[in-house]
Amino acid sequence: MPNFLPPMSKVHNFSAGPCILPQEVLQEASEAVKSWNNHGLSLIEMSHRSQPFVEVMDEVRSLTKELLNLPDRFEILYLQGGASLGFLTTAYNLIPQGGSAAYTDTGTWANKAIKEAKHLGDIEIVASTKDSGYTSVPKLGAVDSKHSFLHLTTNNTIYGTQYKEMPSDLGVPLVADMSSDIMSREFDASHFKLIYAGAQKNMGPAGTVMYAVDTAALGQTGRDIPSYLDLQVHLSKDSMFNTPPVFPVFTTLLTMRWLKKLGGVAAIEKINKEKASLLYSEIDRNPLFEGHADIDSRSNMNITFRLTDDTVGAKFDELWNGAGISGIKGHRSVGGYRASMYNAMPLESVQILVDVMKEFERTI
Ligand SMILES: *Cc1c(COP(=O)(O)O)cnc(C)c1O
Repeated sequence: MPNFLPPMSKVHNFSAGPCILPQEVLQEASEAVKSWNNHGLSLIEMSHRSQPFVEVMDEVRSLTKELLNLPDRFEILYLQGGASLGFLTTAYNLIPQGGSAAYTDTGTWANKAIKEAKHLGDIEIVASTKDSGYTSVPKLGAVDSKHSFLHLTTNNTIYGTQYKEMPSDLGVPLVADMSSDIMSREFDASHFKLIYAGAQKNMGPAGTVMYAVDTAALGQTGRDIPSYLDLQVHLSKDSMFNTPPVFPVFTTLLTMRWLKKLGGVAAIEKINKEKASLLYSEIDRNPLFEGHADIDSRSNMNITFRLTDDTVGAKFDELWNGAGISGIKGHRSVGGYRASMYNAMPLESVQILVDVMKEFERTI
């Protein structure tokens, strides 16, 4: 067996989240924790009201908007509570008192979003792939205009499915949980009014969630919204209503700078497509493997697959473990394997996994 061990004894990190981050980001973030620039303090012991941190928050907000190529009507927030609180916050801010919203049911996270939204309005599930085991995302048609928005989970982290194209005009504004494919590809935001994403899948470490919100969409519900859940409160304080998660926000900024230097979202999209097609080709070619998701719904971020013969699983596990690959066991609800290939994953690591799959075929 050739030596597949990664350099510097780092593993090839295929974890679904928290995600792999660029080495240079980890380096700079860890230095800032010890002592940040020439401030004589650690990043995490400095006031969030200090000029240097205010600049961090300003830069991460403007860079996020720039990288996502969002129209001017959008503002960016970095808050706490993850995408899980985002499920509730979204509904609180956008479903009017006594109103309704349309949701798509494309798996575990979509269902969690639906559960929270039900606290705040009538929720109609307008499209679902539950009956086919969530192996695809549904075709979307026009939505009744009585609904305040249509909610999508753009990439289904657990099942490995993804909308290959964002829907265009469906008659109501779009709202999306983009936790696991934000910043991975370009998209047209013109029909969206809110996008949220936990940082830890593609943007930074756990501990902060990004909201991109059309400011004109807020303040329309007639509700008395509790302060922390009210996006207008956070906007009025420039994302510093309370102490922000300084380390996750700073590290997210470093990742954004890294992405910009690389050529932005268009450049990373090309690399992501290359990585995904490398692995999908091997899954389709190698008779020992089969993909989980339907071909036209396959995710470029989380690639789910399984063995055609389960009895040889121990041998495959031994091979990838020996190659320094980590984090490819499938989610418990799907089984098999899942290779998450977020922005910072190098093509070389995907090649190693493919080499291991070929080696498995040769030696079994
Ligand atoms: C991981 C994930 C979440 C949950 O995010 P938290 O920040 O842990 O709350 C929500 N939606 C999707 C699509 C995810 O992949």
